[in-house]
Amino acid sequence: MIKTTGIVIGTHNKNKKEEIRKILTGMSLPLLDLDDFDDAPDVVEDGITFEENATKKALELAGFCNMCVMADDSGLEIDALDKRPGVYSSRYCGEETGYKEKCLKLFEELEGVPFDKRTARFRCTIALAEPGKLHFVVEASCEGLINTEPLGRNGFGYDPIFYIPEYKQTMAELGSDVKNRISHRALALGLFKERLNKFMKGELH
Ligand code: IMP
Repeated sequence: MIKTTGIVIGTHNKNKKEEIRKILTGMSLPLLDLDDFDDAPDVVEDGITFEENATKKALELAGFCNMCVMADDSGLEIDALDKRPGVYSSRYCGEETGYKEKCLKLFEELEGVPFDKRTARFRCTIALAEPGKLHFVVEASCEGLINTEPLGRNGFGYDPIFYIPEYKQTMAELGSDVKNRISHRALALGLFKERLNKFMKGELH
């Protein structure tokens, strides 16, 4: 059995916290988040992979909170740009630059690339650690194409330019109910919940 008094969701992001709580609801495990701790550090995301960043965040925050912590990292990979912006998705063109500008800059970089070659994916990695020990890492992705114009008003970040062929719409045109079923984060959280259940039963160490 897991020898903790619960799990800390390692983020201050309100949307992420709500999404995670919704998906993990029903598990007999108290869920805390970083707002339950004073002065939780902002872990520097200096890894070159999503896994490195998620693992680093989970381990550092577990040490700080002295509890089990789950932490994630996510971003957009575009094949024609050698998988950029990737782990730098939120820092692309500078952290302070808005997503409208970031998306326009991506269109510039992709000028001349035919639609069927604008393949991309959102990726999400989630790690669970206790102080000094990484327990497991799960990862999932959502495949699509970079649209030639921004469309839709839902979601956030790169959603308006991420076209999903199966739905013939961008992520920002889809309702949150659909996004929360097919997104990289929803899929990774589903895997996380499965692994956590096994872990709590002692099937994983
Ligand atoms: P982080 O996981 O909070 O570090 O997110 C990294 C960045 O990836 C975000 O700031 C967005 O730029 C991008 N990103 C991650 N998930 C999504 C999504 O679901 N939609 C749009 N952009 C996303």
